[in-house]
Amino acid sequence: MFWADRIAGEVEARFGKNPGRPLIVRDEKTASGRVHVGSMRGVMIHGTVSQALKDRGIDNTFLYEINDTDPMDGFPVYLPEEFKQYMGFPLFRIPSPDGIAKNFADYFATEFKQVIESSGFTPTFYNVSELYLSGKMDESIREALTHAGEIRRIYLEVSGSQKPENWYPLSVICENCGKVGTTKVTSFDGTYVTYVCDPHAVEWAQGCSHAGKVSPYGGNATLPFKVEWPAKWKVVGVDIEGGGKDHSTRGGTRDVGGHIAREVFRYEPPFDVPYEFFLVGGKKMSSSKGRGSSAREIADLLPPKIFRLAILSKDINQAINFDPEGDTIPVLYDLYDKLAQGFATTKDDDYARLFTLAHAGVVPPSGFLPRFSQVAFIIQMPHMQLEKEMAALKGSPLTDAENAEVEERAVYAKRWLDLYAPEKFVFKLQESLPEAAKNLNDVQKKALGMLAEYIQESEAMPSGEDVHHFLHGLKDSVPIAPGELFKAIYLVFLAKESGPKAGWFLSSLNKELVLKLLGEAA
Ligand SMILES: [Zn+2]
Repeated sequence: MFWADRIAGEVEARFGKNPGRPLIVRDEKTASGRVHVGSMRGVMIHGTVSQALKDRGIDNTFLYEINDTDPMDGFPVYLPEEFKQYMGFPLFRIPSPDGIAKNFADYFATEFKQVIESSGFTPTFYNVSELYLSGKMDESIREALTHAGEIRRIYLEVSGSQKPENWYPLSVICENCGKVGTTKVTSFDGTYVTYVCDPHAVEWAQGCSHAGKVSPYGGNATLPFKVEWPAKWKVVGVDIEGGGKDHSTRGGTRDVGGHIAREVFRYEPPFDVPYEFFLVGGKKMSSSKGRGSSAREIADLLPPKIFRLAILSKDINQAINFDPEGDTIPVLYDLYDKLAQGFATTKDDDYARLFTLAHAGVVPPSGFLPRFSQVAFIIQMPHMQLEKEMAALKGSPLTDAENAEVEERAVYAKRWLDLYAPEKFVFKLQESLPEAAKNLNDVQKKALGMLAEYIQESEAMPSGEDVHHFLHGLKDSVPIAPGELFKAIYLVFLAKESGPKAGWFLSSLNKELVLKLLGEAA
């Protein structure tokens, strides 16, 4: 069973076929900078589970929270120096880097929301600052403050983290300097909290030493993440919420949150969907490094259906390693083509389900699909015309839909070649014998000589199939091992040890050029 359907089945087992209200599926991201593409795994898992529930007839709403009240506690390298003054400020109180967006969090959230929506997911977005400012968090704040001792005990028992006797689970926004990351609540009288803005509270920001007394409600303060998370489950009424495996360890954030939810807020924690990492080039890069692995940058490398496939094709317990500098993109396209072919024949297995979900439910008609690596090769060959080569490969002219798909592949192949493609996919047609082909052995030279004779004797360039058959025959007539033969051909024409299908490639070339290069080589 496809993983999202399996999870939907487990959700149904917990809530029943008719929960009597729309279930709430929730995910969130802190808008502390450019969002790493790894966060798209959460979006796609929650969005797809939401879809799988709907497909079972279970009504639900997918909510996506932009966390904009956390303090700025790391400094993204791409920000101007002047933003250092905002370290410790809540994200929604920091100005936007472009001076246009509502604030800092809104600026980065907008870019991420665009990626989410262009990937075909349509959650209902909200900002956590709205929950605080509207007073919806007030009751949870009151509960957290009155049960501070219990929360300290849970921290200690579940995660081994010892908080001082006078520690309160709340961060007030300093009325003097505006920072939230530096304040410590020292008492709560049932209505007001007293606090100090401690200069030494954290390494990354300096408090102003102000001491004050203020209402903890209505957006004046925020809960620490381990308390805020379960508080939001209750306030929003969350039924299903997963998290990355870094949160899911024993004694981790989720574990602590679950205890606080049950023991303090009296709320049954949502159905969990713990999932593995999404790595880029083998690394779980942090958002503060940003460049190269943001959701926007990675999404721009792929059309939505392939981006969805990159994430949806792996079960939640499998890590994804997306490496734009390796084979990832051509491999994903090959997987897509395999699924497309399978979809045309069987429509009821897991692969068909995956293919449908990769298309957000709207599957295009089946048709001719050239390999991505082949399109990437053709667009590097100045003598080849994509449309003509495609028609030759298909054996008939392409339909409009097929042409559109080919053109889309060409656009993404070009982008990939310009930015990331490894050397083995980068080809340049040689105009004279390259250095790399000057050390062929006698057997290789003999084979190339015979190939030259064969082409010389043909009136025009023979067809790809004919060249293929001729090359095949050289195995016995020279004799030469096929590997040695193909290597010699690629070295002569492309200065590479490997390349595309040799018969097809040679047949596409100008006869004079072929004879010139073979002559120089043999
Ligand atoms: Zn202060």
